[in-house]
Amino acid sequence: MSEKNNFHIVWDEAIKQIRAALDEQEFYTWFNLDFVEADENSFVVAVPSIFYQDQVKKRYQDYIEIKIEELIGRKPSLKLVVKDQNPLPLPDGAEPEPKRQPSRQKSLPKNAHPQLREDYSFDNYVVGENNSFAANAAQAIARNPGKAYNPFLIYGGSGLGKTHLMQSIGNHLHADTDLKVIYVSAETFTNEFIESIQGAERAKTSFKNRYRFTDVLLMDDIHFLQKKEGTQEELFYTFNTLYDAKKQMVFTCDRPISELKDFNDRLRSRLGQRLNVDLQPPNYETRCAILKKKAEASGISIPDDVIDLVSKNISTNVRDLESALHTLTAYVELVGKPITVEIAQQRLKDVFASPRQSNLSIEIVQRVIAEKYNISTSDLKGKKRNSSIVYPRQLAMYIIREITEYTTTEIGSEFGGRDHTTVMHAYQKIEERIKLYPSMDSIIQGLIRAIKEYSAKS
Ligand code: ADP
Ligand code: MG
Repeated sequence: MSEKNNFHIVWDEAIKQIRAALDEQEFYTWFNLDFVEADENSFVVAVPSIFYQDQVKKRYQDYIEIKIEELIGRKPSLKLVVKDQNPLPLPDGAEPEPKRQPSRQKSLPKNAHPQLREDYSFDNYVVGENNSFAANAAQAIARNPGKAYNPFLIYGGSGLGKTHLMQSIGNHLHADTDLKVIYVSAETFTNEFIESIQGAERAKTSFKNRYRFTDVLLMDDIHFLQKKEGTQEELFYTFNTLYDAKKQMVFTCDRPISELKDFNDRLRSRLGQRLNVDLQPPNYETRCAILKKKAEASGISIPDDVIDLVSKNISTNVRDLESALHTLTAYVELVGKPITVEIAQQRLKDVFASPRQSNLSIEIVQRVIAEKYNISTSDLKGKKRNSSIVYPRQLAMYIIREITEYTTTEIGSEFGGRDHTTVMHAYQKIEERIKLYPSMDSIIQGLIRAIKEYSAKS
């Protein structure tokens, strides 16, 4: 290991000891310090603001220097640099304040992780057949990070619980171990990366170090990295460093990684090399269980027939279930009356009536194709296998995949609950046909035009 890494370890060890010595509240208030670089004469760390820099200097500079001296046998000087200076001038006379995570100080327990939602825990995660494999794998990882499954990739449509499950791993490890956990969305990672390459050398090093010297990296929504070659490459190097050091990595994605477009092949194969599991929409029973659990957690009593009504009518994903529950909860709280089936019907009628946008546009493609090929949409979605139906069905899947952002999992479920591999297969079949018959191209373009016109009208 290079000497530089050794100093990073020294820093971490010093911080660990300081954390053990100080009151937790105090530690969390004043030790938001990011290691930047070091040699035996000086340690450079980044702080969030000038005010913070002053305070840490006054209160802890000496203390930290002595801690390091105990570890390496000589006293270095501690240099505090400001991470991202607040560009807005303060109004006259206003006292600058340290940046704080607003809720951490009050409501969250002392030990909460700054980037993780505390309620995203295994305890709050309802396990059903749609997610049991993913949930079990996540628990195995939380018990055995870096060993069981590395990297771990969770994929599936929006609102199905990817972030919740990923953060459950983080919360568990943060509470039960001394491991350093970083949670970051791919979008934030991208923005930080762009900022770092625009900044001074130190900013670059600080960015790289932050992600390459963590014990656990949780990166959410990596589909965001499509077309972002530079960030993909940076992640590739981060990945290799962490992988070689046997550090646990968890990623989420809204589709199987084989379906990411404009994505670095080396990174794709790294991400796919271990455990990839998908989350499916919950079935009726799981939807009921989720609603009950969430209602209980918010201290609201919802009768079983209302739970049944909501579970039957909202099958898309857990986020939609939750928002229906919020609507009902708000009613109970404001009106102070218990909820009944009639009231729930009335409060949620818009939600029940309008098919989601996602179904809508898939539906439009299905309608236009069915009409052009003189078959019914239920045949198109159904099980019949004669070629007069199979071909338009494949064509519809192909076109949806070409002109929308839906994943093959989502498309499959709109075609009578087919598997995403069926959609992939259909896509390939049509691609082969296009190669064989160049006229296919103009047929498809014509269909796409018709679909767009139809969609503009409706
Ligand atoms: P995704 O990241 O896949 O879009 P989230 O993890 O943000 O989805 O989940 C959306 C909401 O649904 C969150 O509030 C989450 O707590 C809740 N949720 C999802 N799956 C479950 C589950 N199995 N049990 C309890 N709550 C869930
Ligand atoms: Mg998410």
